[in-house]
Amino acid sequence: MVLADILSELVDYEGEPPPDIRLIKALIDLQKQDFGNPLIEITNLFQSYLKNLLSGAIASLTILLITLAVLMMKQRKIHHTVVAPSQRDSLTQLSNRGYWQQCLEQTLWQHQQSPENTSCLLLIDVDHFKHINDKYGHTTGDQVLKQVAQLILASSRQSDYAGRYGGEEFALILSASPLTKAREITERLRKNIADFTFDGVDGDVTVSIGIAEFNAAYLGITDWINAADTALYNAKRQGRNQVVFA
Ligand code: GH3
Ligand code: MG
Ligand code: MG
Repeated sequence: MVLADILSELVDYEGEPPPDIRLIKALIDLQKQDFGNPLIEITNLFQSYLKNLLSGAIASLTILLITLAVLMMKQRKIHHTVVAPSQRDSLTQLSNRGYWQQCLEQTLWQHQQSPENTSCLLLIDVDHFKHINDKYGHTTGDQVLKQVAQLILASSRQSDYAGRYGGEEFALILSASPLTKAREITERLRKNIADFTFDGVDGDVTVSIGIAEFNAAYLGITDWINAADTALYNAKRQGRNQVVFA
């Protein structure tokens, strides 16, 4: 005799069966009906819901990452080349002094927050530029400045900040570069300029470069610029066409 029969006998007495017996009967009736296997169906439904949710989340995350990467690349490119007209030097198209100093302030601030990172500041001055102007004329002098700016851009990375500091003087922030790496990049830049054939100029055009690495003791960008300027002064004093470290 199965449980259902026992129960039906048990409740087959006169009067209403007690509520707990009614409940057991209802459950047995339910069990007799064919519902398939609801647990498996619910599990399957839940699994496919999770799969959809997960693939949707992965797709959204991928799109977000790609967008961020594109924006970062654009921002870096903007710093480097496509700076707004008000931030750009009209002759060389590099950042002008005001905008470049803002970039330096930002770099200094970042390093003060996380001193384990370091950057190097370069001041680059064309040697005997007055002589070039005097010998070839101001227009040729302008062309030389434009070409020096292009060579500086070509020797630096997208994450660096190049600017025209004034006259025949340029500035470059080598972002996230310790002195050893900056030494390599700077020496290559100096050589690229010395080896370059400038339009309308017989003979070499050279630059002197002063480098100063970020120092936690700097209170502001003036300290950093002064350190690079002292190194540049020493490069001039020691004979020009060379790189000197602060
Ligand atoms: P040093 O090696 O000591 O740097 O000598 P220098 O002749 O390069 O330096 P000096 O400061 O004596 O001369 C810089 C010259 O740069 C004087 C100025 O007329 C010239 N100059 C400044 N801005 C421009 C410019 O935009 N175009 C041209 N063609 N010349 C400029
Ligand atoms: Mg000069
Ligand atoms: Mg100068």
